[in-house]
Amino acid sequence: MNIEKMRALFPQLREKVYGKPLVYLDNAATSLRPLSVVEEWEEMSLRHNANLHRAIHKTAIDATDRFEAARAAVAGFVGAESPDEIVFTSGTTQSVNLLASCLEHAGFFSSGDEILIAESEHHSNIVPWQLVSARKVLKIKTIPVNPRGEIRVEILSELLTERTKLCCIAQISNVLGIINPIREIVDICHANGTLVLVDGAQGIVHETVNLRETGCDFYAFSGHKMYAAPGTGVLFGKKALLENLPPYMGGGEMIESVSWEKTTYAPVPRRFEAGTQNISGTPTLVPAIEMCNLLRSREITQNQESVKAFMTEALTSNPDITLYGNPEDPAKKIPLFSFSVAGTHHEDLALILDKMGIAVRSGQMCAEPLMDRFGVTGMLRASFAPYNTMAEAEYFIESLNKAIKMLK
Ligand code: PMP
Repeated sequence: MNIEKMRALFPQLREKVYGKPLVYLDNAATSLRPLSVVEEWEEMSLRHNANLHRAIHKTAIDATDRFEAARAAVAGFVGAESPDEIVFTSGTTQSVNLLASCLEHAGFFSSGDEILIAESEHHSNIVPWQLVSARKVLKIKTIPVNPRGEIRVEILSELLTERTKLCCIAQISNVLGIINPIREIVDICHANGTLVLVDGAQGIVHETVNLRETGCDFYAFSGHKMYAAPGTGVLFGKKALLENLPPYMGGGEMIESVSWEKTTYAPVPRRFEAGTQNISGTPTLVPAIEMCNLLRSREITQNQESVKAFMTEALTSNPDITLYGNPEDPAKKIPLFSFSVAGTHHEDLALILDKMGIAVRSGQMCAEPLMDRFGVTGMLRASFAPYNTMAEAEYFIESLNKAIKMLK
């Protein structure tokens, strides 16, 4: 698979904005959709549309089989012990909220308990825990990052106490692009009896995930960042832990039996999937996983490494630019670059780049505490996918330099 052939699989790459070829560098927000994913969605909608898990007619059985095939594919992709450990949600945000609500209702937290959250987390791995902690009077402690943006794993043991019930950490920060040492963090937390939730929203796209090896207790991710349909997502949980959690929402298909006297619930994972599910969207996880595997071919990975090296050099050699997330070991970073430029505002830069056909993100990137940590009101972020070329990276740097000149 060479890069040009691969780019042809993503029709949006042929789009123009303001008459210029679209250079899409906002992949950390959402990836582009390959044809195979759109075709699966279309096929589900046009040929296999029926509600899931209920009727006995052929179309309903086909739709259910394709939905459950996605569960099996996800389980294989993340190295789960069984498909029963895969709960379908609408995305990372719902996965974390589901877990927070279920742990709270299971009586997992008592007032005075502690939760550890990395300083670099996305709001969706902060606010659900703040909501619980307001009701249960939990103490939220943060794991700081060093000036390079690396998690300070060396002080993790000091932060853990006998009251620390849960540690919440992203595999890869959506701002810093640094790959956190999840295995090490899990080992330290488990030695303290602390469970670990990993936010895999970025990790699932860029890393080979093997949850059996990593050992984390919960893992959340969104389909739309890994080429699948929006509105799809996953919460992985170790089966023994999920089995001890109560339902999240009540409704159809999450029950075993309902009566006025006593209602009992379906086994996991269906207990957490109340109501009509994403019939057409969830099966697109199958072609999306195939795409992730395809994009990990040697030629494509080598191209990404060259783009990463070029971008790192271009951004760090300019004295006006501050790059946030520049780990000691360059291999610990994905091609995602958040930075600020002295004397310019990130939003002005983003607006000018947009007129040149370049889509980048500007602002707080749903990580306000991290902005505070670095003393900025926002940053500019260029996040690359395997379909982005070296020519696009060069055009980005050239355009950025022009935009900086215009503003200075
Ligand atoms: N965590 C991280 C690290 C993310 O990058 C994102 C999306 N920007 C989320 C959580 C939230 O994902 P979603 O909006 O798909 O629920």
